Amino acid sequence: MIPSYFRVTNLLFWFLLALSVLAILLFEFGPERRLDILANTEFSAKGQDDRAHGGQSITTLTPDHRLPTIDCKLRPGYEYPFCELILTLTQPEAGIDLSLFSGMRVKLAASGEHPQVWRFYLRNYDPSYSIPGDDTSHKFNEVMFRPNDYGVVQDVPLDVFAPSSWWVQQYNIPLAQQGPDLQHVYAIELASGDRMLPGDYRLSLEQMEFYGRWGKPGNFYRYLLMSWLAYGILLFLMQYLLVGDKLRKAKAARLAAEALSQSLSEQNRRTEEEARYDPLTGALNRLGGEKLLGELGEMPLSFIYIDIDHFKHVNDAHGHPMGDEVLKHMVSEVLRHCDNLCRLVRWGGEEFVLVCLHYEQARAVALAERIRQAIEAYGDWPLGLKVTASFGVAERRGDPLERTLKRADEALYQAKKRGRNRVEVE
Ligand code: GH3
Ligand code: MG
Ligand code: MG
Repeated sequence: MIPSYFRVTNLLFWFLLALSVLAILLFEFGPERRLDILANTEFSAKGQDDRAHGGQSITTLTPDHRLPTIDCKLRPGYEYPFCELILTLTQPEAGIDLSLFSGMRVKLAASGEHPQVWRFYLRNYDPSYSIPGDDTSHKFNEVMFRPNDYGVVQDVPLDVFAPSSWWVQQYNIPLAQQGPDLQHVYAIELASGDRMLPGDYRLSLEQMEFYGRWGKPGNFYRYLLMSWLAYGILLFLMQYLLVGDKLRKAKAARLAAEALSQSLSEQNRRTEEEARYDPLTGALNRLGGEKLLGELGEMPLSFIYIDIDHFKHVNDAHGHPMGDEVLKHMVSEVLRHCDNLCRLVRWGGEEFVLVCLHYEQARAVALAERIRQAIEAYGDWPLGLKVTASFGVAERRGDPLERTLKRADEALYQAKKRGRNRVEVE
């Protein structure tokens, strides 16, 4: 998992980095978003004046559609005489979202008898203030051209537009809505200012385009930051999962190793234990006996050496397996008379050594004698055989164990020599 994890996050990092750099370069230095109203929109132009309000001003629209122009005969009569050029872009409810743009490049050409001040409106529809059937209720986002602003391209940031104060008053617009609002602009209007003197004027809209970046910088950088944040979270989660996975695997491996070593040591212990016993009779074998002697230290004890009499005859007469049976009976009969201070060792063949801890000589002799009699009297020997054994007893008297054992062996030899089926002490 590690290599593929690193490959994925690495790849993702470089991909995201390249994408971010490219996006920033394009966003900051790439081509700007543009909307040329005169060339690229389906507007309809019309002229308007104060005659509907009882005035005498006359607005005449020239027929050149690509260069909207009005001739204005501004005459006294109405309280606020005016001429107006209206470019309708869409139905009020539809509108164009100009808030995506940051500025407007506009060129007006004006001629006439007196200095001119024209109001420039971007009309915006919004259900929160627009009243159906009332054209004047749509917001008048306004800038005002001064007498010297004509004939050159003006670059107007869109955030300088503000609603006309008379409109705010007339529709009682709350403070929060008294800023520019350009999300549903449906018309562009040019109206003569109310301080213009009566006279003849001509106004042309020669150029008008909106420009801006392809998104709002705030949004652009927010999305960029969010994508890096998502990458960071992904990285963290993957690392967390990876570490968790590694920890889980390490724990499982440790538990498995512990279980294995436990079972191995258990197996060893059992094998070691088994190695110390004689599989035929269940008594300790020679190895087990020697280990036992090695652990006894200075403990007082007596040895009882036991050897079956004429055992060879049993084998010869009845076969080796029958001899084995006799050995098994022999061991169980001996053990039947032993307390838990005695350990029986099959020293070799049909010879046994009974190790009796804390037994002094007399007690050991008595035990040997009891066993001898029991064997002689035992009625369950295979094939009804008669089996006896000879015993050599020796008590440890501060001498090395080997020496004591040798003495027990010598006592056994005496027992054999003196006719078998007897107990001798050395
Ligand atoms: P003695 O009275 O002098 O001890 O005579 P013995 O025949 O018992 O003496 P000996 O030591 O000559 O014979 C021991 C016999 O024990 C020899 C061998 O065949 C037999 N023997 C040794 N180990 C085993 C065994 O595991 N199974 C059987 N069936 N016989 C065994
Ligand atoms: Mg024998
Ligand atoms: Mg023997």
